[in-house]
Formats: sequence, C-alpha cells, structure tokens
Amino acid sequence: MDCIFCKIVAGELPSTKLYEDEEMVVFQDIAPAAPVHYLAIPKAHIPGVDGITGENSAVAAHIFEKIAALTAEKGITDYRVVSNVGEQAGQTVRHLHFHILAGRLGGPLY
Ligand code: AMP
Ligand code: ZN
Repeated sequence: MDCIFCKIVAGELPSTKLYEDEEMVVFQDIAPAAPVHYLAIPKAHIPGVDGITGENSAVAAHIFEKIAALTAEKGITDYRVVSNVGEQAGQTVRHLHFHILAGRLGGPLY
C-alpha cells in the first residue's frame, strides 16, 4: 500500500523512533510545529479516527496509555494531543496518527 506511515512501520522509510512495540510506534514529526512534536501511530493501517471501530479500538486505548507514559517519562506535563480527520481539517497522511505537541502552544484550541 502506498502509505508513508506504513513504510515507516515497515522500516522502508527512515524515522527517529522514540517508542515501539508490537502494536504502535512513536516517532519525531519531520516538520515540527512545536519544540516537542511526536507522532503516535498504530502499526495497523487505519485511515484515521473515522476508521476506529469496535474491532480495532483497543489499539487506540493502547496508544493513549503509551502517550501518557512516554510524556510522563520525559517530564512533559503540559501538552496537546491532536488528530486531524479529512483534508479540510488538515489531514495529509491517511494513516491514523496522534500529534503530541508541547513546549510552545498557541491559543486554547490551536
Ligand atoms: P496531518 O497533516 O495531520 O495528516 O499530519 C501528518 C504529519 O506527518 C505532518 O505533521 C508531517 O510533518 C508529518 N510527516 C510527513 N511525512 C513524514 C515523515 N516521513 N516522517 C515524519 N513525519 C512525517
Ligand atoms: Zn498506512
């Protein structure tokens, strides 16, 4: 499948990984929008939050558990978790990902 995040999971594209297990990977965003900008993704190809179902939602819970653990381990207490769904919302990669942003956040929403 022509998906850059599937290629990162498969090791066909390089990435700076911070965490990996059987179900997910966390790596540095290539174009950071804040001093801390990680991406947390499932290894399985799910197109976005709109592709989460009763069948695959356990991985979403797992990802959030690891986001909490990883940020705590790094001493990051104030951060934002963002997932864009659809082009108009700014989704450019159609593989579920959660942006973890910290260090310089904008207003209350963006
Ligand atoms: P979104 O626009 O919400 O779909 O987020 C996609 C994110 O993936 C953007 O923040 C990009 O900077 C990031 N990105 C795209 N290609 C790569 C890559 N090869 N390695 C790391 N991050 C990437
Ligand atoms: Zn994919």
